Amino acid sequence: MSFDSLNLNSELLRAIEACGFTEPSEIQRQAIPVALAGRDLMASAQTGTGKTAAFVLPVLQRLATPARSRGHGPRVLVLTPTRELAGQVEANIRELGRFSRIVSGSVVGGVPYPPQMRLLGKPLDLLVATPGRLMDHMERGRVDFSRLEVLILDEADRMLDMGFVDAVNQIAAATPASRQTLLFSATLEGRILEIARRLLKDPARIAL
Ligand code: AMP
Repeated sequence: MSFDSLNLNSELLRAIEACGFTEPSEIQRQAIPVALAGRDLMASAQTGTGKTAAFVLPVLQRLATPARSRGHGPRVLVLTPTRELAGQVEANIRELGRFSRIVSGSVVGGVPYPPQMRLLGKPLDLLVATPGRLMDHMERGRVDFSRLEVLILDEADRMLDMGFVDAVNQIAAATPASRQTLLFSATLEGRILEIARRLLKDPARIAL
């Protein structure tokens, strides 16, 4: 199977080629069609499986279409447990989005606030964030989620292990109920299923 059969736009296919990827990984084969169809998804996939591109590619494809509503807030939010993982997701977005016209940025802990405040004050397509710092900005009224279309929980099990369950719930509650939600986790059991039941609607389930 090649990337050509996944119905991705030509800007994305060029970027995939420039990255040197010749065929989609298993998680990409399974997750990309589900995500492109607009369905919620929960997937168990470890780091190293290509899971990041499995959600970055379909959201970049969605961002090539006009926003559903006005406003300047992000259309896509990726929540990650750590600043390091946020950096890796951003690197994937930069590589795979190099021929797409999108504005992305990150809001993570351990770095100064002012550049993040400027980022949140301008039109933004895609935001990568860690839950604690994002909550700080939300509590100060700096985040507009009125046009959010997709929420992605990356390494959801680690976010719960790090004590972010309340933050994740509050962030999700601040986004439109009409959103699409994609959850990735090393395992799909116990507390992950509980949060999935709360935040996902009739999700497809992919277990690698
Ligand atoms: P991840 O599991 O998202 O952390 O990705 C692991 C590594 O695999 C990253 O360096 C990606 O750039 C790379 N990668 C992702 N998808 C593919 C693919 N289809 N073919 C080859 N490498 C890939």
